[in-house]
Amino acid sequence: MATSTPSDVPLQVRQLTTELADAKPMRRGSLSERTIKCSKTGCACAHDPKARHGPYYSLTHAVGGKTRSRFLTGEQADLVRQQIDAGRQFRGRVDALWEASEQWADSQLTDVSASSGEAKKGGSRRVSRRISGGKSKPF
Ligand SMILES: [Zn+2]
Repeated sequence: MATSTPSDVPLQVRQLTTELADAKPMRRGSLSERTIKCSKTGCACAHDPKARHGPYYSLTHAVGGKTRSRFLTGEQADLVRQQIDAGRQFRGRVDALWEASEQWADSQLTDVSASSGEAKKGGSRRVSRRISGGKSKPF
């Protein structure tokens, strides 16, 4: 604590870290909603799409390369939707924090190289976005 100088932290970095510290329940994965046909003979669902049963909600999430899913009630699905949303926001902020932090880090490099005259400005480089948590196949 004594070594850090908060006034040196760029505003954007400070804001993002404050926002990230705002913990809330969140999750990755995706919610799906589907209606199904049953196997009862004579049930209207076999022919009429509107007579299908449901909706049934399920949450799918990749864990260690395996896809896990579980069924949810309508109420749970509403909640899960919010949790996934919160997770998406969190991820967006993490990405933004990385960008802001790297710009900050770049400015540090510029400060150092200013004396040697080798300052090379890269402008605002975009961090390539990659959705993590998906399948990663090792060769
Ligand atoms: Zn049916």
